[in-house]
Amino acid sequence: MNANDNKDSRKCVLCGKPVQETFRPFCTKRCADLDLNRWLVSGYRIQTEEEPDPGEPIPFDTEIDR
Ligand SMILES: [Zn+2]
Repeated sequence: MNANDNKDSRKCVLCGKPVQETFRPFCTKRCADLDLNRWLVSGYRIQTEEEPDPGEPIPFDTEIDR
């Protein structure tokens, strides 16, 4: 068992580059954002797929003008 093996396994789960403590388990904020974005998109798609259109938002600025 190598103690070094533990250090070596710290690689970015996206691109395999050395991981920075700040962005674990990613190497940079870019990789973290990319993964988060992919996760959100796939999660939201299921919900928004059959969501009915709520219509146009009412601009209350013109409503007072009536
Ligand atoms: Zn990366």
